[in-house]
Amino acid sequence: MLNLLGVNKNSLTAGPGGERFEIFLKGCIRGLINPCPGCFNESSWTFAGESREISAEELHSILLNEAHHRRFTVCGGEPMLQVKALLPLLRKLSKDGFHTTMYTAYDAEKLLKGGLAFTWREGMEEAMRERLMQYAVSYQVKADGSVVFRIATPEMMEELFSLIDLLVDGDYQPTKRLTQSDTMEEGWFVGSSNQRLIDTKTTAMLGRFVYDEPERIKEAMLK
Ligand code: SF4
Repeated sequence: MLNLLGVNKNSLTAGPGGERFEIFLKGCIRGLINPCPGCFNESSWTFAGESREISAEELHSILLNEAHHRRFTVCGGEPMLQVKALLPLLRKLSKDGFHTTMYTAYDAEKLLKGGLAFTWREGMEEAMRERLMQYAVSYQVKADGSVVFRIATPEMMEELFSLIDLLVDGDYQPTKRLTQSDTMEEGWFVGSSNQRLIDTKTTAMLGRFVYDEPERIKEAMLK
């Protein structure tokens, strides 16, 4: 099950090509521990409180019925925490010809090389521990009460890369904010210049990183 904070069915700033169906996944470890300055979505940090659980099947059917443009975006919180639940949905959407953009504050090379793991410790949000038990593929409770979560393996990341089209990685950095005169015309979707646009399918296919050119994407957006 995916844990959703909300959706924007008509987002114009969540990826290339015009209107997109964007989902916001709940929970961001970084937000709770060491938030990115200027984070655009503080309400997404906590793992506690209201959210909606939705299955891959249900969300797939909503997307088929409502996203006729076949453009989909996964935003957070931190979407990579829910890779296990995202994969069954992304397999379906890839077959259906959806263009999927995903955001992450994690470093894409590290995700591909090592997957994603996190150690929860006493004093951290209790709801985070509960949710990570659901999100993780495995976990180990240590004698001191800490819990080591394996959230995604490198193989899962590789599959994710082969199913989505574009990954925007890196945190938002206000000191590197892209200004109106850079690229922030209507419809642009990257907040700061440190964030990279990764052509994930080609990267997975070639086994080396391939970056999408902002200029090329901008041209495609204007068509
Ligand atoms: S910008 Fe993203 S990764 Fe950073 S604190 Fe906000 S939700 Fe978390």
